[in-house]
Parts: sequence; structure tokens; C-alpha cells
Amino acid sequence: MASHTTPTGNEPTDEELRALVAELTLDEKLSLVVGEDFWSLPALPRIGLRKLRVSDGPVGVRGVTWDERDTSLLFPSPTALAAAWDPEVTRKAGAIMGAQTRDKDIHVLLAPTVNLHRSPLGGRHFECYSEDPLLTAKIATAFIEGVQSAGVGATIKHFVGNETEDDRMSYDSRIDERSLREVYLVPFEEAVRSGRVWLVMSAYNQVNGQTMTENQRLVHGVLKDEWDFDGVVISDWMAVRSTEAAADGGGTDIAMPGPTKVWGEPLLAAVREGRVPESRIDERVERILRLAARVGVLGDRKPSTATTPGDAVATLRAISAQAMVLLGNDGTLPLDPSALSRVALIGANALRLSAQGGGSAHVNPSHVTSIPEGLRAALGGNVELTLTEGAFTHRALADLAPDTAVDPVDGEPGLRAEFLDADGNVLKSEHRLGSSLMFWPDNIPEGSTVIRLRVRITPTVTGTNIMDVRGAGRFELTIDGVRSVVDSTPPEGTDVIELIMRPEAKRIEIEATAGTPVDVSLDFSQGSRFFMAALGLGWSNPRRSDDDELDAAVEAARAADVAVVVVGTTDDIESEGFDRKDLALPGRSDELVRRVAAANPKTVVVVNAGSPVLMPWRDEVAAVVWAWLPGQEGGAALADVLTGTVEPGGRLPTTYPAAEADVPVYSTARVDNRHDYSVQSSNIGYRAWALGDAAPAYPFGHGLGYTSWEYTDVAVKGDATGLTVEVTVANTGDRAGREVVQVYLETADGTLMGRQEPIRLVGFAKLDAEAGSTSTVTVEIDARTLARWDEQGAAWTTVAGTYTLRVGRSLGDLRLSADVAL
Ligand code: BGC
Repeated sequence: MASHTTPTGNEPTDEELRALVAELTLDEKLSLVVGEDFWSLPALPRIGLRKLRVSDGPVGVRGVTWDERDTSLLFPSPTALAAAWDPEVTRKAGAIMGAQTRDKDIHVLLAPTVNLHRSPLGGRHFECYSEDPLLTAKIATAFIEGVQSAGVGATIKHFVGNETEDDRMSYDSRIDERSLREVYLVPFEEAVRSGRVWLVMSAYNQVNGQTMTENQRLVHGVLKDEWDFDGVVISDWMAVRSTEAAADGGGTDIAMPGPTKVWGEPLLAAVREGRVPESRIDERVERILRLAARVGVLGDRKPSTATTPGDAVATLRAISAQAMVLLGNDGTLPLDPSALSRVALIGANALRLSAQGGGSAHVNPSHVTSIPEGLRAALGGNVELTLTEGAFTHRALADLAPDTAVDPVDGEPGLRAEFLDADGNVLKSEHRLGSSLMFWPDNIPEGSTVIRLRVRITPTVTGTNIMDVRGAGRFELTIDGVRSVVDSTPPEGTDVIELIMRPEAKRIEIEATAGTPVDVSLDFSQGSRFFMAALGLGWSNPRRSDDDELDAAVEAARAADVAVVVVGTTDDIESEGFDRKDLALPGRSDELVRRVAAANPKTVVVVNAGSPVLMPWRDEVAAVVWAWLPGQEGGAALADVLTGTVEPGGRLPTTYPAAEADVPVYSTARVDNRHDYSVQSSNIGYRAWALGDAAPAYPFGHGLGYTSWEYTDVAVKGDATGLTVEVTVANTGDRAGREVVQVYLETADGTLMGRQEPIRLVGFAKLDAEAGSTSTVTVEIDARTLARWDEQGAAWTTVAGTYTLRVGRSLGDLRLSADVAL
């Protein structure tokens, strides 16, 4: 096996590991292949093995709780990181996240997510990087190197074919070998071979009829044997569903979380009875001990002492701004605060920034810089900023505001959470700071049958205030002594993450007087016992009608020099656990944009979303900025971009459609519970668009800046063993800027080895350049990127012939070309 080194010098030898394995009893070995609880692997003091903890990424490290009191840095969505088209940026993000992982005394980060953007409806699209395997591979590998440079194991997931969410536990992705090799496996292979990743997560779904935790050919055959992966394959949570099939044939090393019904005792019996060879268990334990050594929980080895750098928040702000994509601009941007007296900030997402998507990736930041906060600071005191919601597009109300909600027990801002048993005894009582609460099995006391929330809310506006209660279960609600029952019991079989991320939100109108407190108590139950529970309480001041709200926004726009409309999604639209149903912005967002743009020609639209949405008004507005789900510094980063303090350096990592009907792979519906990948074979994303007639709204790689560029020359050296491409570019504008030079490969007749082969990305490089300067960037293209998978020979091969390299700013703006012989 390949030998690896770590910054903590913890790499063990194979002999050392085997000697340790030989010391263990079968019971001890079996105790190591199952999680001890939701987030940890067990200790075995006899051999100096300490507890090893894992925690979710990829937008931050949440920790072993999901609790607003346990805060973490919140990074921009992975789609945003990919949009920087800059492995250095992701490496930096990975290093900071890895360091915070150590601050939380955690050893393994469950990130990055590298499934591809096959359909834009995929629920976790925001959590993955791109539709292109090469871009995904480069970004993911740099992220892994960053994380592991802090002595923390990165976990590349979900291996493999987990591109969508609906029915993810069972669907079968039917993928032909060549597409697997050339597209879906590419990021995993690069992460193993060049990123030296320490863990791979096996997915929930099946590939070609075999569930991934049991997939002998892909996990044993390809990942472990062919690629020489020497790390640990950890199952997705509850993905191990069999004893022999997963433990013998399947290559999954650890079943998470523990305890599980299918390993443990049944696995002991299977080994004793010879149905699973003990050598299979030994091989797993050796890998687990190697990981334990690497992260410093074995013997004399110590965990890394990496710690979050002092400038982490400033770095997050810079990354977030750099990743934003300027989709269109008639010159209105950047804004010059000295030339403005009033800016109208409009939109539900302007008031409630979606800083992150939903699902296991969720983290609890200590602070989110809102857009009004960021813009006020950037515009300065001489510019008036007006705020209007314009359209009520959120399904759930905003959480209770800390200045109006107090815990009736201690009088502190927040609320009281109590856990009661069947006899009404309080088993645990705690003060909570927020009103969106999440409980895991580990933090619900044994025997709890009711979770009670109590809060005293002091409305600030007299009239019909609105409260919502969110959760999957039954509520008994008491408001100022008046009791009612709300039943939000979900249908059987709903994905557990969906129950958490998108529980029913029931609204209750409360006639209230400003300054007069309202006492609220809520008893939540879920049948006989709790497994996981997500509970929420929201509040809204009295609202105008939808029409009046829209009219008010239009008036505000008319009265301002510039209107900034922020539209977008939420974490119950873009989430793990379910796919989106369409690409439309929620509610009356489109109407709002159109009416504001008609009232003010200087209307800048900001889209706050992690994955594509339709923008039917895109040619009717002065500028469009794609701000992603920008993380905790989103408001400040957006202000930097709008005022031009930072160049919006992002480029789309995915093709953005003008209409749903044009999208080559749109539906996420299964036929006989199958996704048939062979329909497009290796051609997803822009490669599939290239085969059709429709033009996208914005092509792959698109993104403007505040300066202009001239591509003057391209020079190519090399052959099938690798190419070196030198591109000369001049910044012809009057300010410094950032450019991403993209290199694509075209075949002579659009086919290769019997398959349609439209253009494909083979390399890229970013460049920062002063106004008026000329620079040359070098793009290296390795042999593998030029090769194709030969199914007959089951090997990589390069088809000899003449190809054309095309170089430019995006697939829609290619400027130079050069022929190459391979
Ligand atoms: C997700 C994984 C995640 C795990 C633990 C699963 O539902 O698919 O990505 O790491 O939960 O939270």
C-alpha cells in the first residue's frame, strides 16, 4: 500500500497495525467496526485506542450536537467554493474548517460532497460542486488537502451515483462502465490517488443493482484494489442494511451510527459460523487503526494542535465575495456610494438571508452578517437605506427575535425547553437561545415522551400578529391559558432529514397589543418515544396584504436612486432529504422583480440561492449578481461586491437554464425505482447542452467582472502524455481584476470511441491582473484528462488524432483556439 505522511507525523506502518490486530479478540475487533453512538467510534484502552469523533461538513464543522449554543464558522455553499474556480481558495477553506474541527476535539470531517450536478432539481445540488467532473475533482482534492493539513480526516462522499435525494435509500443508479469511469468516479479517484483522502463514505443507493454498502465490485474492486485506497470506508448513516452482504462482499469498514441491528451480534454469529471470514474483519480493523493513528488517537500519537486562525472570519468574507458571480451588468454596478442618496433594499431574502442550505450540512453560526447590516456599513451614513419585503415567499416565519422573547423561568432572552416523562415528571430543563431546535437521540433524555417549550413574547406592534409552530408530530399549544391541539404527524416513510428540514409549519393568528406579553407553552410528542425531533416557533408582526406589500416595494424603488432586489431560496427548498419540484423562485418573486424594474431602471437583482433558478426577467434589469448561499459573512461580502471593493470573481460551475424544458437531465423521477444514467452516458451538464439546440440562460463558466479582457495568444506544447497550454491575456479595462482562463477540448468530428463527444473542460487557471497589464498563465493538462475509458480493454487509452483546444472566458465566450496532435 502507498505510504502517506501527515503533518503530525502519525503515519503507522502496516506491520505495526497488523501486530495490533493480532492482539485483539474477535469480540474486540467487532466492537470497532460499528459506531459507539451517533458520532463516535469506540475506544479500546487495552491497545491504547481512544475515542474518535466525526462530524458533518461541508459548510463548516457542526460538532457532535445540533445546538445553537455550540457555534461554528459557516462557510459559503460548496457551489460557491467551486465558482471561485480556484483550488487555493478551497484549500484555504478546508484548512480553516479542519482547524476548527480540532478546536471541537473532533477527528474526522464528513466532507466534501462530490456527487455531480446531474439534474438541477437534486436536493443536495448546493452541497456538491459542479456538473463537471474535472472541476469537481480539482476543487474537492484541494479541500481535502486543506482539511488533512490540519491533521483531520476528510471524508469524500457519497460513493457513488447519489446524484438526487427522493428515495435515496433504495433507488438504483444504472450507470455504464465508461460513464462511471469518465464522469462519476473521477472526483473520488483524484481524491484517493492525488489527495490521499483518509475516508470515503458509501452511499445509500444502489449502483447497477447492488447497494453501495454491499458493492463488491466498486468498493473492493475499484476503490480498494485498483486505486490502492488504504483509508476507511464509512457507511452513510444507517446505510448498512445487511449482515453478510455488507460485511463480506461489501467493502464498508464501519457501520454508522451505532448500535446497529445488522452488525453487532448477528455479525459475531456470522463470523463464528464461517459465513463471513474473520480475515474480512481483520482487514477492516487494520484500516480503522490506521485512521486512528493518523488522527492521533492511537498509542503515543497525539492529535494535531491546529487551531482556528484569528483572521478566519475575514477570510470567509473574502472567499464569499470572490465566489459571487456577476451574471449581467449594464454599468450600474459597482455602486458609488458618494453618488447615491437613497437605496431601496427589497425582498424576503434581503430581510432574511439564506446563508446555508438544509440537511446534515447545517451548522449553527454565532452570527450572520445580514444584507442590511453589510450594505449600511458599505454605503455609509449619507445614504438612506429603505427596507421592504415586497413578497412573502418564506414557508416558515422568522424565528422569535431575542429582544422580544424571554424564558419565563430565568427571564433571559430565549426560551425554556423541558423534557417530560409519561407521568409528567421533568427529566431535564434547559435555557435555549434560539427557537429552531433540533434534538438527537443522544440529547433526548431516556423516557421522554413530551418536549415542552415555554416562552413569553412581547409583541412590538398592536394587531393581528402571527405565530407558527413547526415540527413533525402533535402539539398541545397553550396561549395565555387557552389550549388547542395541532396535529402535524407526517406520513409513514418520510425521509428523516425531510422531517427535520421541512416539517409542517402551522400558523396561528394572535390578536395582541404592543408591550403586553403573551405566554406560550407548547407540548410536543411523537407517539410513544422520540428518535429525532426538530421543533420551531416563529413570529411575524401584523402584515400588509400581499398586494399592498408589493405596491409598497414598488413605491420604495421609485423613490430611490437604485433598487436592490434580493430573491432566492430557503433551506426548506434546497435541502438534503428531498429534491426540488421545479426551478421557479418562490411565490410572487418574479412579479416583484419585474414591477420593481419597471419602476426603477437601476434595478440590481441579487439571487440568494445555491442551485439554478429561472430568471425570466434577466434581460429587464440593470444587473444580476448570483450571491449563492454565502455563509455567515454573506451580507458583508455582497456589499463588497455591489460597491466594487471586491471583484465578483465567480464563474458558474454549472449551466443555468432559461426554461425547465431545455434542461437535458431534468426530472429526478425514478422508473421502477431506477435512474437510467445511460440516457446521457458521459454527457451531462454542458456536454449534454452541446448536443441539443436550446441555448441556456447562462453558459457553463460564465461570469463577468468590473474590467475587460483581451485574449491575445495561446501556445501549446506536448502530446498524449500531457499538454502545457500558455495563454496570454491583457486586462484592457481601467481597474484591476480577476480572470479565470478556461481550456476546453474538442474532437474533430464530435465523436470518440463510438460515443458522442462534445466539448469538455480540460483545464483552467485564475489570474489577478492590474489595469493595462498583460500576463501569461500556464494550464497543465495531464494524460488522464486526455484519455477515455476503453470498455473492451477495461483500461484508459488516448485516441490518436488531431483535436482542437478552445480557450476563453466561458463556454459562451471562447476567444482562441489551437490544434493539437495526440
Ligand atoms: C447524510 C450524510 C451525513 C450523515 C450524517 C446522512 O443523512 O447523507 O451526508 O454525513 O447523514 O449526518
